[in-house]
Amino acid sequence: MLSHTFADALPQFATPWRVEAWPDPDIKLLNPDFQLADGTLLHILSRPGHAQAYAGHQFGQFVPMLGDGRAVLLGAMNTPEGLKEVHVKGAGPTPFSRGGDGKAQLGPVLREYFISEFMHAIGVPTTRGLAVITTGEKIARQQVQPGAALVRGADSHLRVGTFQLAATRGREHVLAALRYSAGVLGLEAETEEALAEQFLRRVMHSQATLVAKWMRMGFVHGVMNTDNCSITGETLDYGPCAFLDDFDGDAVFSSIDHQGRYRYRNQPQMAAWNMVRLAECFVGIVDVDTLNGLVQEFPALYRRAWVEVMAPAIGLQPSPEVETLLDDLLEILQEHKPDYYGLIRGLRVDPMRSSNWQEPWLRSWRAMEPDLELMREHFPNWFPRNHIVEEVIQAGLADDWGFVHQQLAYARDPFNAPVASPPKDPAPYVTYCGT
Ligand code: AMP
Ligand code: MG
Repeated sequence: MLSHTFADALPQFATPWRVEAWPDPDIKLLNPDFQLADGTLLHILSRPGHAQAYAGHQFGQFVPMLGDGRAVLLGAMNTPEGLKEVHVKGAGPTPFSRGGDGKAQLGPVLREYFISEFMHAIGVPTTRGLAVITTGEKIARQQVQPGAALVRGADSHLRVGTFQLAATRGREHVLAALRYSAGVLGLEAETEEALAEQFLRRVMHSQATLVAKWMRMGFVHGVMNTDNCSITGETLDYGPCAFLDDFDGDAVFSSIDHQGRYRYRNQPQMAAWNMVRLAECFVGIVDVDTLNGLVQEFPALYRRAWVEVMAPAIGLQPSPEVETLLDDLLEILQEHKPDYYGLIRGLRVDPMRSSNWQEPWLRSWRAMEPDLELMREHFPNWFPRNHIVEEVIQAGLADDWGFVHQQLAYARDPFNAPVASPPKDPAPYVTYCGT
């Protein structure tokens, strides 16, 4: 049922390992899209797997060995959602734990499951939650919570950090990772150099699209380290992420992001920076001028992707005029800091409304004859506002799964769910990595 595709192809990046035996495992959520029975899931968890090795830049600092410090890759499995690598986060200590306990708490596990269901529902590429399991332990971080594990599915867990580790070991390792990744992405080329170029283009393209979609939703990932930057362009690791309520380009939610490196508006530049780190791994395989030329294309790729996803959110087709209109929108958003979702969704709900500061912009927008139906399809009615995510987590911690399921139903159908109101208490929202 599970094939060790990754570990068989790249044994140098995989240490055989197993999910630890938990005192009292209890499946709290099982994702209906994957049609896994309880028994099958528990059986899978008992199978031998691997902890993956990878490196990464964390907040700009290179760490030569990170790896799965609290996760085990069980293998790849055919699911109704396609071939997925099954990964268990909160699987217990591994050879890569670096002094950490290898555990996860229920709160952060629920957050990842809940938000990633929403991301999937609105067409943002993401890893998926297959199941949330409590382990029967108590885990202390900022507070004591039930121990939990997230069973996660992804097209692949290859990340920029995988290539960075390969590069520290030498050219043959980079080529091995490249050949394996090319298989995952369905790329083919006559020479290794051409394959590497194609690969870089593909990753840049998928990252540009991914970050553009995050920006449209006001999503702040919070920890865009290279070890969390996926080769397949999936949103990977939902630790300290949050959504904008009031618009602010400088919004930072993570308690550890003191410099605001991963603030909302920096995300495209951070993705570009990560792409340079990826390209660096190919020095000696691809000519340096070619690599430089490639990574310099990222801002334009991002810009195009951003206009493509933003234009329909305001009911328009991408064009140079719409691009200017979108830039103007960003400017007034930054100046007046309104509730971001309220404003974008409000355009559809009440296109003829008037507002002093919005009026000149609204006039230009209406003159372009926006398509309200297009807006309905491209910007959801409901989204998991930070206070809703917190309520869901609190409900889970209080064992009130009825509320969790009700909110999950909205997350899975956000275009038809009732509108999510802004928070009553506008206190600053702070998130924690959950480690
Ligand atoms: P993250 O920020 O969650 O992507 O984690 C960064 C690195 O820290 C990865 O190598 C994780 O495996 C590791 N890590 C995070 N939390 C823990 C933990 N509780 N125990 C051991 N390793 C951890
Ligand atoms: Mg990570």
